[in-house]
Amino acid sequence: MNDTEVDRIAGIVAGLRHGFERGVTRPEAWRREMLRRLRALLMERGAEFEAALYQDLGKSGAEAQLTEIGFLIAEIDHALARLHGWMRPRRVGVPLAVQPASARVVPEPLGVALIIAPWNYPLMLALSPAIGAIAAGNAVVVKPSELAPATSHLIASTVPDALDRRAVAVVEGGVPQTTALLEQRFDHIFYTGNGRVGRIVARAAAEHLTPTTLELGGKSPVYVDDSVDLPQVAMRIAWGKFMNAGQTCVAPDYVLGSPRVLRALGPLLAEAIHHLYGSAPDRNPDYGRIVNDAQFERLVGYLSDGEVLVGGGHDAAARFIEPTVLRGVARDAAVMRDEIFGPILPLVEVSDLDDALAFVTARDKPLAAYVFSDSAEARDRWERETSSGALGFGVPVLHLVAPELPFGGVGESGSGAYHGERSFRVFSHEKAVLSKPLAPDTLGATIMPPFTPQKEALVRRWLRRLL
Ligand code: NAD
Repeated sequence: MNDTEVDRIAGIVAGLRHGFERGVTRPEAWRREMLRRLRALLMERGAEFEAALYQDLGKSGAEAQLTEIGFLIAEIDHALARLHGWMRPRRVGVPLAVQPASARVVPEPLGVALIIAPWNYPLMLALSPAIGAIAAGNAVVVKPSELAPATSHLIASTVPDALDRRAVAVVEGGVPQTTALLEQRFDHIFYTGNGRVGRIVARAAAEHLTPTTLELGGKSPVYVDDSVDLPQVAMRIAWGKFMNAGQTCVAPDYVLGSPRVLRALGPLLAEAIHHLYGSAPDRNPDYGRIVNDAQFERLVGYLSDGEVLVGGGHDAAARFIEPTVLRGVARDAAVMRDEIFGPILPLVEVSDLDDALAFVTARDKPLAAYVFSDSAEARDRWERETSSGALGFGVPVLHLVAPELPFGGVGESGSGAYHGERSFRVFSHEKAVLSKPLAPDTLGATIMPPFTPQKEALVRRWLRRLL
């Protein structure tokens, strides 16, 4: 147990606030130095991070590099290359009625940020928002997930030492620690996890009028029609679904298709899974494990919600569940109500595109939706008629790698978005700065009382044309 003592938490946050108020975090040089040090830590101790991720999730080294360590390094490089431009005040125009004057938008740090991370990408989701917070000049406290204890501890024992303890802290623990953190006043809370806790975070934040970013989950649908190359589609769906053993917030949750498409897709998914993980995924080091016994039991419970078409094997001692495809799943089965968040992929029959769109729009807005169709009309209708955090044509998951694309949810899948410059903006206040000379006086003769008939005429008739 490495939990932070609850009664130390107020002091930790006060220390960070002191650091922020002394101006430690504001200089561009400090921000750059922190990002460089974090980069160096990830490079130099990459093997330890890989080992921790393997311990928590059976994550392979290659997957750990691809989706966590390398992802963070790329994000740091992106920020370092652009930070100067992001920080630069932006000159904007003013309407004629305000002239002469000059106006600028000046990004300033918010203060002390709290980042609460989940267990499924326990390194990336703890540090990726922190990169934005630091780049924007904030002090930051990171609370990694207690359900990925090896990674949580490695973050806690390396990051504050490598960076700057005056402005960067890590609190380890679960509900008691997070509850104590949420009693403190922060300037932004960035939470990634499930919607139940998202509501707890939002309520606590409201108490201090603290803005939040809520990165939540949901059931991300896939739609496939018969206009596309189904073997390639099966590979892409299987890749997106079974990476990290299905424990990915933007993983394809289920597949919608006509009976004919699903009949053809089933065996192709079996081939794709075999291609990716071989005939014995339990012995394949590229295939992950379920994070804990409770999640394992929950997932195994779904196996009886349909007919097992592929996989279905599982081993409680190893928390292993084979990549599994279910068919004949009732629309109201438990596996179709909850976010699956594991390696089980239901195939759900729809009669046509209308039926698929109606199915998705009747449910919570998902974090992502994926469409495999060459029909311009189908693609267009998905884009116009459904709402989701992201929409992928032809590929799942990959949108999160493009730093110019906002990454976030809508409705039940969250609010706010980050990545790239947006991560900097999330943790910045855009201050409006207007500067008007005292002379010539353009206000007394126009908009200030006493309102003479001439001034009133001006206000009534043409001032709005000058605005
Ligand atoms: P989790 O159980 O690790 O919880 C997330 C965080 O909330 C942890 O740090 C935990 O300590 C804290 N927490 C738990 N209970 C709390 C309470 N009562 N009060 C205060 N804090 C509490 O992770 P999880 O929620 O199981 O994560 C999985 C969910 O996260 C899925 O729904 C998934 O889709 C979603 N997710 C979303 C994204 C995204 O970027 N949008 C990314 C990953 C996961």
